[in-house]
Amino acid sequence: MSYITDKPKEECGIFGIYGPGLDVARLTYYGLYALQHRGQESSGIAVTDGQGIRLHKNMGLVPEVFSEDILARLNGNMAMGHVRYSTTGSSLVVNAQPMVCYYAKGMVALAHNGNLTNIAELRNTLAANGSVFQTTNDSEAIVHLIARYNQNKIEDALLKCMLDIKGAYSLLVMTEDKLIGVRDPYGVRPLCIGKMGGAYILASESCALDTIGAEFIRDVEPGEIVTIDKNGISSIKKMAAKSQATCIFEFIYFARPDSIIDGFQVNQVRREMGRQLAIEYPVDVDLVISVPDSGNAAARGYAEESGIPFDEGLMKNRYIGRTFIQPNQEMRELAVRLKLNPIRNVLRGKRVLMIDDSIVRGTTSGKMVAMVKEAGASEVHMCISSPPYIYPCYYGTDTSASKELIAARMSIEEIRKFIGADGLHYLSQEGLLKAFNKELSQCTFCTACFDGNYPIEVPALGSESKFMLE
Ligand code: SF4
Repeated sequence: MSYITDKPKEECGIFGIYGPGLDVARLTYYGLYALQHRGQESSGIAVTDGQGIRLHKNMGLVPEVFSEDILARLNGNMAMGHVRYSTTGSSLVVNAQPMVCYYAKGMVALAHNGNLTNIAELRNTLAANGSVFQTTNDSEAIVHLIARYNQNKIEDALLKCMLDIKGAYSLLVMTEDKLIGVRDPYGVRPLCIGKMGGAYILASESCALDTIGAEFIRDVEPGEIVTIDKNGISSIKKMAAKSQATCIFEFIYFARPDSIIDGFQVNQVRREMGRQLAIEYPVDVDLVISVPDSGNAAARGYAEESGIPFDEGLMKNRYIGRTFIQPNQEMRELAVRLKLNPIRNVLRGKRVLMIDDSIVRGTTSGKMVAMVKEAGASEVHMCISSPPYIYPCYYGTDTSASKELIAARMSIEEIRKFIGADGLHYLSQEGLLKAFNKELSQCTFCTACFDGNYPIEVPALGSESKFMLE
């Protein structure tokens, strides 16, 4: 978590393609590029031509890890890739994915987006039965379970595995002759299916399909196993939970605005969140601005609903990446200024409403309010297009301790004073849900970080595995 963003980090993005005759490694490279916002620590691609699986992975962004030469060597008819931000397991290349292993039936590659909530128990049980672990990530336990259930065909092994694992997972599994996508019974993390000529694609978000010119077919359903091989596409739907619990934060912040998830266009939902904010909190100001980029759509929605003009009041430096040297305490002010700079002639003398999608740890909001005031704004109010983030997430983001979450420690009025704003409002949970046009989808959501209603059992306090020490 960087204090120059103060956003929770999504764990991973996954992309796979079954495309005989196509340059599958290069298409996967472009697909991962489109999913780079979901993970910036490591990147990897595994490829098969039906005779073994080859893998290249390393720490770094997609274009840092793959060169023309490396892509040229990764030829085959099927490929899958992964971009990672670590939430379980250290940020080390050994934990980068895909994982590729030999088991009784040949080779298998696996990539995982999400977090297992019973991983400590799983690893303890597996270790007690003779398993050894090379990584500290939770995905390795899934590979062990697949290997353990090898008497069956791999889809049956996965069904058995799904009975053992708990938590959030969208998985890609590749053998030498098939590509498989799995979404956990609650559908917490997204996964969709695309088609391009005779090729099929599985990807975390539909923006990756658009990037390679593929057509969106549908989302993988909660609890579904989708197999793609020489016979086309087939599906097993036996494991869905009673109700879906897609992570609502995908729509608030994680996903790209041009993606469609479970029937909802992300950008449209964010705009509606802004409209709902304007209905709930009409603020008497001259100007609406956003904290770019994640607050943009909600700010436009607020402006449309309220009739107050929207303008760009903060300019974002788009070239601050993973390699940005984290400054010391004295330089933190400067760090925020490197990321965002106020446009003075827009702000001078105005009563401003600044819209952001969330405040997680509260490390940057105060600096942004001060920056806008210094630029000449006469008042600075903040509206947040989601409810207060109070409870930690156990399903694949990096907010796992309540003490880090400002809204778990302070009232809204205390936060307002802390960030120095003239007003602070959060969208209600009811307003958040109203932003989804329910006529479009049957989807229901995980909202646990706002209300503590965890759809999947969370790890017991103090549960840990000595086989996960980092
Ligand atoms: S707890 Fe929050 S961030 Fe985590 S899956 Fe649920 S909605 Fe998403």
